[in-house]
Amino acid sequence: MHSETDVIIIGAGSAGLSAAKELARLGLRSTVIEASHRIGGRAYSEEIVPGVWFDLGCAWLTDGDANPFAEIANRLGIALGRATWDAYNNSDDHRFIRNGTRLTGEEHAACRRYYVDSYAAIAAAAGSEPEPSIGDVIDLESPCAPPFLESIATGWGVDVDGVSCADNTSSGGALGYPVPHGYGNLVAAWGADVEVTLNARAECIDWSGPGVAVETPKGTIRASLALVTVSTGMLASGELNFAPLLPDWKLEAILGLPMGTENKMGIAFYTDVFGADGRGHHTVWSDDAESAKVDVNGMGFNSVSVFTGGRHGIWLEKQGPQACHDFAVDRIAEIFGNDIRKHVIRSITTAWSTEPWTRGSWACALPGQAYQRDVLARSIDDRLFFAGEATSVGKQGTCDGAYRTGIRAAQEIAAHLKGAS
Ligand SMILES: Cc1cc2nc3c(=O)[nH]c(=O)nc-3n(C[C@H](O)[C@H](O)[C@H](O)COP(=O)(O)OP(=O)(O)OC[C@H]3O[C@@H](n4cnc5c(N)ncnc54)[C@H](O)[C@@H]3O)c2cc1C
Repeated sequence: MHSETDVIIIGAGSAGLSAAKELARLGLRSTVIEASHRIGGRAYSEEIVPGVWFDLGCAWLTDGDANPFAEIANRLGIALGRATWDAYNNSDDHRFIRNGTRLTGEEHAACRRYYVDSYAAIAAAAGSEPEPSIGDVIDLESPCAPPFLESIATGWGVDVDGVSCADNTSSGGALGYPVPHGYGNLVAAWGADVEVTLNARAECIDWSGPGVAVETPKGTIRASLALVTVSTGMLASGELNFAPLLPDWKLEAILGLPMGTENKMGIAFYTDVFGADGRGHHTVWSDDAESAKVDVNGMGFNSVSVFTGGRHGIWLEKQGPQACHDFAVDRIAEIFGNDIRKHVIRSITTAWSTEPWTRGSWACALPGQAYQRDVLARSIDDRLFFAGEATSVGKQGTCDGAYRTGIRAAQEIAAHLKGAS
């Protein structure tokens, strides 16, 4: 670890890695420190069974070929699941399963209409004063409300009463391409040429003097300035100290963008228990169990991702991995029948709300607080710069959004350092 550098980058996720590469391209020295034992942050793949990868965090390249990671994957010779695009991006193909039975054509059409009307109501309310939550503008009594509430709880990581109508993501529901070899593996392969000091958490960023000094368990690093790319969950936790404290306007931005939670349960099966028509999105709800989103074979293998979010997602996470596994298998059995149970090989369950270096899945603006993303992105005293998914406007909560914020911050830093020299 270099103890003197131009820029200290805190965090080796998508934003920190893209910033390091952009600074190098612009001729500036940076030192990247990462709290955990690996790079990638919320881009993280694990092998669920030999040769089958499960992404605990990001899995889909939003916006398809417009996503910078599409070109990166191409350059690195990593294949994208382009053939999966149609099955997952056609909203008519979204299956609704209520009490173990798929909705009829007419019921399905009514739910699709409910989704369209609800999203229109959310868009119309965005930015109004005072801004309502999503829960205030949709028809909660509709029989189609349960799957929609699940979409919000997993898509935003927060229940409808806690989400800003203005904090819409730009992907408009389209998922893009999966990465069969793992999106986390793709980010790790792309970031492998960046020198990163692992197991080196920033404990305190001292910006009381002319530059910055970052204390880590491996020693103190000094630089002209620091780029902070950690999540708002980490910034709000008090585990990363600033001396002097961050100004009130920055603290208000952090508090306006608390972390949502989406958890995933990956279940691998010995055989194809879904049938030729089984692949795609399902939302499952019933009178006596919480709802879930179920993506079948998204990665092109005999595997399923079950998603929970919001309060129920956090509650289930607290019950532990076995409870998450059981919940996921029960939901899959509601779609494909009880026989699937004997074909389960293995599961991986996530616990993002308690993940020590993230403390949630992504930042979700409280009602009336979506503007804080711009505020969070603003530098302080030309010494503390900020990047990361929470600072993206429109591509928040995505890996490519985080990537773009790293480039943006690196260019701001370069303009400042070159202007100052
Ligand atoms: C369940 C889930 C599903 C998702 N699905 C998708 C998807 O399909 N498509 C998509 O595009 N995006 C998806 N995302 C979002 C995407 O993964 C994130 O937006 C993106 O990876 C965030 O990158 P980042 O660089 O902003 O933050 P991070 O990846 O969190 O990087 C920050 C880094 O800082 C480190 N750190 C924290 N504290 C310290 C400290 N004190 N000192 C040093 N280092 C520290 C962390 O360990 C981490 O590595 C998903 C996320 C989750 C959790």
